[in-house]
Amino acid sequence: MAKVQYKACRRCRYLVELDADKCPNCGSEEFTKLWRGYILIIDPARSLVAKKIDAKIPGAYAIKVAR
Ligand SMILES: [Zn+2]
Repeated sequence: MAKVQYKACRRCRYLVELDADKCPNCGSEEFTKLWRGYILIIDPARSLVAKKIDAKIPGAYAIKVAR
């Protein structure tokens, strides 16, 4: 079974599949595969964590991203 890999948006850290070309959260087209850990945001409107990391849509966000 193939392992699905993700890359993280450099601007907002949203995780997308490797073939995505645009971040659905912030519209950035810059990604990095160098990221560690992630948090799941289920309901951005009600989540304090989502506000803190500027998450506007549900999904997984990397905790650490290489600059
Ligand atoms: Zn983004």
